[in-house]
Amino acid sequence: MYDVRFYKGNYSWRQKQANRDKCTAYVEHHFNAAVNPNSGYSLVVTGKLASDTSKSWGRLYAKLVAEGFKVPLGGTGGILVGGYNGRGNGNLKHTKMPAILLEPLFVSNPQHAEWVRSSAGQEKLAKILADSIIETFADGSRIGFSIGHKYKTSRPRDRGAAVNGGGAEADYAEIVMEKAKHILENYDASKQAPPPVVDNEEDVLPDNDIRVIKDGKELWLHVDVDEDDDVVWDEESRILNITTTQ
Ligand SMILES: [Zn+2]
Repeated sequence: MYDVRFYKGNYSWRQKQANRDKCTAYVEHHFNAAVNPNSGYSLVVTGKLASDTSKSWGRLYAKLVAEGFKVPLGGTGGILVGGYNGRGNGNLKHTKMPAILLEPLFVSNPQHAEWVRSSAGQEKLAKILADSIIETFADGSRIGFSIGHKYKTSRPRDRGAAVNGGGAEADYAEIVMEKAKHILENYDASKQAPPPVVDNEEDVLPDNDIRVIKDGKELWLHVDVDEDDDVVWDEESRILNITTTQ
């Protein structure tokens, strides 16, 4: 159902190619890094003039990462509109479709880096990305993927930040995006879990019995009474009137 395309070259070129291909959505994958090894939150950057769809997609993705890895949300509700002092805006501003830039975890944070380097962590991130796309672009067909730093014509050796414990930001972003592409291209809405089964009402008869008891001993029992029937004790005539409602 989804057709995922990786775009390479300089950032503006990638975006123009995605426009040409009429992508439904465009996403660039990075990881965050900071001098402080304790920095660790989930963040999505959107362009300065991002649409509501970009923003809600970004918030959803950041939230899923925050929940999935139990890390705080960065930015405002998970998104930073326009990037860090404009940095990040250029990665998205040429797109004509909803577009976001991911900064899910901090590769400078030892715990985060461990997740990023593990295949379980990579699969979790890939599933979150795929889920956010399926949720936001249910009918979407072509999705543009861009690996931050890697494959730029201007700086072919750029791989982004060093990952604590070994490796580079861009190489791990590529692994995650390849896995997300696999999930999306094998996704079949018709094969998803059917809607929840609603059990038939259990045939439990209500107990509306009416009894006449004398000295603890049952003298009379009437069982054919519905909850909606009118049961009125007439004090004067000393008659219990049961009126069936239909
Ligand atoms: Zn980066």
